Amino acid sequence: MKLNRNYENIDDSYLFVEIAKRVAAYKEVHPEADVIRLGIGDVTLPLAPCVVEAGVKAVEEMGRAETFRGYSPDSQGYEFLRDAISKYYESFGVKVAPHEIHVSDGAKSDCGNIVDMFDDGNTVLIPDPVYPVYIDSNVMSGRKVIFCDATEDNGFAPTPDKKIKCDIIYLCSPNNPTGSVLNYEKLKEWVDYANSRGAVIIYDSAYEAFITEDGVPRSIFAVEGARTCAVELCSFSKTAGFTGTRCGYTVVPDELCGGKFAKMWARRQSTKYNGTSYIQQRMAEAAYSEEGISQCGENIAVYRKNAKVISDALDELGIFYTGGKNSPYVWLKCPQGMGSWEFFDYLLKNANVVGTPGAGFGKNGEGYFRLTAFGSEKNTEEAVKRIKNLLGT
Ligand code: PLP
Repeated sequence: MKLNRNYENIDDSYLFVEIAKRVAAYKEVHPEADVIRLGIGDVTLPLAPCVVEAGVKAVEEMGRAETFRGYSPDSQGYEFLRDAISKYYESFGVKVAPHEIHVSDGAKSDCGNIVDMFDDGNTVLIPDPVYPVYIDSNVMSGRKVIFCDATEDNGFAPTPDKKIKCDIIYLCSPNNPTGSVLNYEKLKEWVDYANSRGAVIIYDSAYEAFITEDGVPRSIFAVEGARTCAVELCSFSKTAGFTGTRCGYTVVPDELCGGKFAKMWARRQSTKYNGTSYIQQRMAEAAYSEEGISQCGENIAVYRKNAKVISDALDELGIFYTGGKNSPYVWLKCPQGMGSWEFFDYLLKNANVVGTPGAGFGKNGEGYFRLTAFGSEKNTEEAVKRIKNLLGT
């Protein structure tokens, strides 16, 4: 037996462990400190009432012989949820047929599993800084990864360099960690580039519900030409607070690889996945009902307000940042030329506020810092007050 040697090439995932270690060390010396955490990428507000109601009803159905359900008829998801997702797309003007939607237990699983679709010889292009799953899942399967630079110069929203040869492209908009977005024109450049090369774009739209600006697509399929070159991964996690509930979906258009991609993905899922639970799917359906969109929207409005509180303060302080407008993430340049970890320690020590060092997301993240809007309103306001006091002098 030989173990998969590719695992020797992935870095230890030490970012959040290191953050926890430094916070714990600080708290040990200063047990009285009221440390506010604006580093987490997890939601904090509870599920919408109509989602809870749908979950309770589904559990009750499972408890009665007449309505009990075992394995779902197919691993792609119940029709009721695929119809609801298709209607959700329609609400922002994008046509995706129910049969093109594949329901899962979340975008992270789909992100990790989609690499099964590709030959190991493909070259993968990933923006830096980035959500680390894109890199690690490809390195684990031995694929060559190259990077394109997201920097202050391109607003952390790069466009393709036509000289670069790649086969698989990862894009995430609104972006984690930078909060930047790809507008229609930039996305069209990527779509044209992918089509011209016969490459595939894996488009992560997990944060689409945070988009407020016109001209920023909520789906890559709003862009002409995307149906021949893209798959889209999306999630109920940030839209409806499902980080603990688990539900997501991948859209594979009929036109991709002449229909072969959709067939392969369905085959992969039916072989390795036995479907998302009925209860979760009923809850997800409720989240995309008219009532659900409105109730989940109330939570998103709170996060948006937090993001504005953070970004307004950075505007006042004259600090460069991206995000905050179409995203729960605010990505700021560390003041006074500090490095990411240096600023982390400075903020922890002098303001008792915890964020995420940008260096943990790639080399271009060095010197930057991520704050999130997922904290409570009270904590966000207090943290921002402390940051303004510290950096405003
Ligand atoms: N994609 C991005 C960009 C994320 O930031 C996250 C989670 O933070 C995910 C996917 C994972 O989503 P899920 O909870 O559906 O697995």
